[in-house]
Amino acid sequence: MKRTQAPAEIEPFLSDASNFHGRAEGVAFPETEKEVTEFLRECHERKMPLTVSGYGTGLTGARVPLSGWVMAMHAMPALDIRPAAGPGAPSRAVIGPGVQLKDLQAAATGHGFFYPPDPTSILSFVGGNVATNASGSRAFKYGVTRDHILRLRVVLADGSVTELRRGEIFAEASGRLRIPVKTRQGALEDRFCFLPSYHAPAIKHSAGYYVKPGMDAIDLFIGSEGTLGVVTEIEVNLLPLPAKILSFVVFFSCEADAWSFTQEACARSRHARASRNDALMQSRSFEYLDAGSLDLVRSKYPDIPAAARAAVYLEQECQPETEDWMLDQWNILFEKHRAPLEDFWFAEDEEGQQRFKAFRHQVPLEVKALLIASGQTKVGTDYAVPERHFQAMREYERRRLEEEGLRGLAFGHMADCHLHLNILPANAEEHAKAWRLYGELLAKALEFGGTIAAEHGVGKMKTGFLRQMFGEKAIREMADLKKALDPHGILGRGTLFPETLLA
Ligand SMILES: Cc1cc2nc3c(=O)[nH]c(=O)nc-3n(C[C@H](O)[C@H](O)[C@H](O)COP(=O)(O)OP(=O)(O)OC[C@H]3O[C@@H](n4cnc5c(N)ncnc54)[C@H](O)[C@@H]3O)c2cc1C
Repeated sequence: MKRTQAPAEIEPFLSDASNFHGRAEGVAFPETEKEVTEFLRECHERKMPLTVSGYGTGLTGARVPLSGWVMAMHAMPALDIRPAAGPGAPSRAVIGPGVQLKDLQAAATGHGFFYPPDPTSILSFVGGNVATNASGSRAFKYGVTRDHILRLRVVLADGSVTELRRGEIFAEASGRLRIPVKTRQGALEDRFCFLPSYHAPAIKHSAGYYVKPGMDAIDLFIGSEGTLGVVTEIEVNLLPLPAKILSFVVFFSCEADAWSFTQEACARSRHARASRNDALMQSRSFEYLDAGSLDLVRSKYPDIPAAARAAVYLEQECQPETEDWMLDQWNILFEKHRAPLEDFWFAEDEEGQQRFKAFRHQVPLEVKALLIASGQTKVGTDYAVPERHFQAMREYERRRLEEEGLRGLAFGHMADCHLHLNILPANAEEHAKAWRLYGELLAKALEFGGTIAAEHGVGKMKTGFLRQMFGEKAIREMADLKKALDPHGILGRGTLFPETLLA
């Protein structure tokens, strides 16, 4: 196994896509599960902190080490597509944690399959996606990474290995959860931990350990942000590729119309899903761009209608024979919510779909360019609120931005009431103001029964907000759970809760 302590080779692992920076003594690159096991055992015995690194696209500092060593998963890229063995059996992919999402998606497509989770960061590792329970635009229809994981192999802090298959082990009524392991000496043992007593909000949510009465043991590790073990093998289910995808970018003259359209289209999509009727209107995503986002990309996309102050990008899967009918239905809905029919963009092929995706992704790229130009860093939110509070939250955001004299724009997953508000400070003074406002907005989202993190996780940057969300008792319970599986607290120190709680 390659190990390095050369500063130039450590440097790339000391940050992620947030602006959080750390330090480390060295980086190890295991190629096999055995090497992961041996290195973990060594760290466990020396009580050496170890931070697992995926591709580093995280936005919370989760993979950034505060001390000790980094274990980088880049040398574990095995990828095996396994078509269904027989009728009723799922088609699957068995992959190493260092496989990039784009490679899994391409391999699945090459075999006529489809892997639904689609975080925008297609360079990220699937191991990182599991550890953050990543989601993306298609989460509205297909759910998040968790919903597609059939089996995981995880090496715990002391080097013992657990293999968890969905549907086999569940939490007891007392909250006790059994984790069967094979120790380094080859003995089979059970480890036990107790689930924290907090309740997660019933919305898209990815902050803190996943906890649910009677939950599947595999779900504890999904979204645990590298604090409970190192994921060494992942089995995901694959779906058949949809026959056809219709893509639309629909423009509105105000956000209220985009919101009423989204609400009705979501309700119809949910109905279609519940009745398992593929011939009904059903978008798999509702990606929103507000006026500020549209203004930011207008120069690159001059065909954005001049009067447009909001846009929704949606994708409908359909059979070729229902395409015309489906188009008519969407047209009726666009018109009902005052989206001018002469203005919307439509594509029915892969090339057009990619063009629209690029349009949506241009917004964060322009945000990045703006911030580089002003020498400032991004202040971006990941909170979500229950649907009944969405408009009030948006009004609050707009009012407070205006009162503070700050520029902000929002884009993201409207169906999940989960927009990423990007505050764009022009100078250091505005930057400090933006962070104060960020805290205030998170508090407001919590007041509305929301979550501090809907998809990016907590990492090291939001530990204070996690405490604000769940309270001190819950944080201690999370730390106790971790200590049951990682007694010296070596894994992912400083992520989810302060290091001091692990003493
Ligand atoms: C431009 C951009 C767009 C993004 N869009 C989305 C989006 O649409 N949806 C979304 O959910 N997120 C998004 N993200 C956030 C990020 O891409 C995801 O959190 C992603 O899952 C991180 O994967 P990674 O491989 O980069 O992990 P890293 O950032 O390297 O690590 C993230 C966490 O995973 C842990 N980890 C990594 N590998 C393992 C392993 N094998 N075992 C145990 N723990 C491990 C790390 O310790 C760390 O806690 C975006 C980020 C960027 C920069």
